[in-house]
Order: sequence, then C-alpha cells, then structure tokens
Amino acid sequence: MNPARPGPAVTTKPKLSAKAERFTESVIREMTRLALKYGAVNLSQGFPDFPAPAEIKEAAKQAIDADLNQYAITWGAKRFRDAIAQKFERTQGVAVDPEREITVCCGSTEAMMSSMMAIINPGDEVVVFEPFYENYGPDAILSGATPRFVKLRAPDWTFDPDELAAAFGPATKAIILNTPNNPTGKVFERAEFECIRDLCVRWNAFAITDEIYEHMLYDGARHISLASVEGMRERTITINALSKTYSVTGWRVGWAIAPPDVTSAIRKVHDFLTVGAAAPLQEAGAVAMHFSEEYYATLAREYAARRDRLMGILTGAGFRCFKPRGAYYIMTDISAFGFPDDVSFARYLVKDIGVAAVPGSSFYQDPADGSTHLRFTFCKTEKTFQAAAERLAKLKF
Ligand code: GLN
Repeated sequence: MNPARPGPAVTTKPKLSAKAERFTESVIREMTRLALKYGAVNLSQGFPDFPAPAEIKEAAKQAIDADLNQYAITWGAKRFRDAIAQKFERTQGVAVDPEREITVCCGSTEAMMSSMMAIINPGDEVVVFEPFYENYGPDAILSGATPRFVKLRAPDWTFDPDELAAAFGPATKAIILNTPNNPTGKVFERAEFECIRDLCVRWNAFAITDEIYEHMLYDGARHISLASVEGMRERTITINALSKTYSVTGWRVGWAIAPPDVTSAIRKVHDFLTVGAAAPLQEAGAVAMHFSEEYYATLAREYAARRDRLMGILTGAGFRCFKPRGAYYIMTDISAFGFPDDVSFARYLVKDIGVAAVPGSSFYQDPADGSTHLRFTFCKTEKTFQAAAERLAKLKF
C-alpha cells in the first residue's frame, strides 16, 4: 500500500483553533474601517487626529539617522527602561529596578497579553470589571483564563464590594483593571483600591492594571497607581505605553512593570512573541519620558476642553452623557432614540448620519448589557468636532 496515496479526507479535525473561534474581530477597529468606507467622522477608535509632539518625532528621526536600526535588547533599550523607571518613581513614588522589573513590548496590547500568558495556568480565573476594554476578553481566551465579570454601574461606575468579593476565590489568579477607565471615564479611588488589595492579598492574586490614560484627568481627579498602594507592589503588573500620553498610537511601544520573577516570565513570552519593540522609537520614548510637568498639565487641560466640547455636541444631539473624570471617551445612553439596540444605532449613525462610534455591547460579555450605550472618543481636533456637530444635528430624537 502506498502510504502517500490520498485516502478519504479526515473531516473530524477542526480546521481552525477553537480559541480563535471563540472571539470576533475587534468592533473598535471595525468601526474605523466602516468610518473610512462611508466617509464618516471617526469618533470610534481612540487615536488622536492631531500631530504628535515635535520633540518626540525629532528624537525618532535622529535615532534612525544615528543608525539605531537593529534589534534593541529584547526586553527594551536600557536608556528607555531607565527613563520609564525614573518617571514611575517621579510621578507615582514607586521605585522599580529597570534591569529586572520592566519589559518593553509592542504596545500595551502586547504587554497585557505577554503578562497574561506569563502567569495563567489552565483552570485559572481572572476577575474583570465590566464594561471592559474589549481586548481583555480575547486576552483571557488566548491565555486560557476564565473571566469572572464584576459590574461597574452607571452613572458613577462604582462596584459593589460584595459582588467583587464573590467573584474572588481559590482559582482567582488575577484581577484586571483599567484606570482611568476605557470606556467609562471612571478614575479608581484609594478606598476602592484598598478593597481590591484586601481581596488580592486574601486570595493571593495578582492585579494587572492598565494605566495608559494616566495623564488624562479632569475636574481635579487624581491618578493612583495600584502598585503604590501598600501591599500591592509585589503583586501588581502595571501596563502602560507611549501611545496615548505622547499621541503616537501607531508606534506600538508599551511596557509592563512587574516584580523580578514575574518579569522574567513576561520577558520570555515577549521575546518569543515579538522579539522586541521598534528600537529607534524606544530611543524617542526615552526623550519623551523626560518632558517637563508642563507637558502633562497642558495635555490634561487640552483634553478637558475637548471633553467639554464633545459633551456639548452629544447632549445637544439628544444623547445622555456620563461625564468622564479621566481617559478620552464619553459613554452615552441612547435610549431616547428608540433604536432596538446599540449595534443597529451605530450602523445607522455611521452610514446615514456619517459619524462613527463604538457600540456599547463590545464592552460587555452579554451584548444585552451594553445595548443602550454608545462610546464616543474626543481625542480629536476642532475641525473633526465641527464636522461631527453638523452631522449629528440631523439626528431626530
Ligand atoms: N484603546 C483604543 C480604543 O479603545 C484603541 C485601541 C486599539 O484599537 N488598539 O478605542
């Protein structure tokens, strides 16, 4: 018998990975594509449509010209890691060792995924506040964790401590949170962190905290890094990036800060996933991390004005807005428009009105929970706001 001769096709073997079948394409990224297709004003995906600071661009150009064009050290260029450690200590009072506690990754997206893959074992659970940034769902699936969701409830997006306590148990490996929060604009308070800390200590769990919007704060809100809360330093993985703070979302440079043993696992995962983030852009990052306090104050002030501008437009167009205290999104309630759900309304908005937003259901496990919400971003120029205002004025409510 010829072993190479084709027999009947084996049909029982699934063609694709069961994990990859368990989640859909990112709705946020899809909305950007629909915005391009229909020529809509894009208030969906959170990326600035204004220029990055001249200094960071100049530093990147200089690094390329100086031929820093080969691989950096896999876990990050030393100058950049040193600058990240200095800034973390300067702004949050947390001293970390750049040699053993920082991993530079391809954006916070990879930092989050590498961190999850570094700590998750089969059977592990992760507690996730909901609504959540949509990546955390696939992050859990791909790393093999079972998510346990705990609601942040409108209008102020607080959680019920008993509900949180009930979500923790012996299988809890970590809690994932994002402060300032996407999509709600919530900024976690110290008392909330102490509640989270007590549960993490009790159940010996990690916290993975995504702090990418740390400098976008309004109305006197203060950002607290979870790692700075007593008892959390040794069990916290802090995720951040250049993307939002320096308006360079396309550079894909982020990092994870974690205790040395955790960092060595993150570094191994990271190395085999991506080898490293773009070397010249890390050099530019090192320059940016030394920007003066004035840079961050101006950033927050300008974002506050953009928030107020978009709040005005949306409220005038009939949306009920949940005023954010941080980050650069406005979560809205769309009940007044009488559409059956968020997805049909988002499609109508992008196709017929010409404004793209993100359906609330992409931030919830059960789409029904987000069906009265739509998220708009305000990291945009006045020209974009003006165009959005003109189009939204056509909405009937
Ligand atoms: N964080 C941004 C958002 O929520 C976009 C992130 C992304 O698409 N990678 O819109």
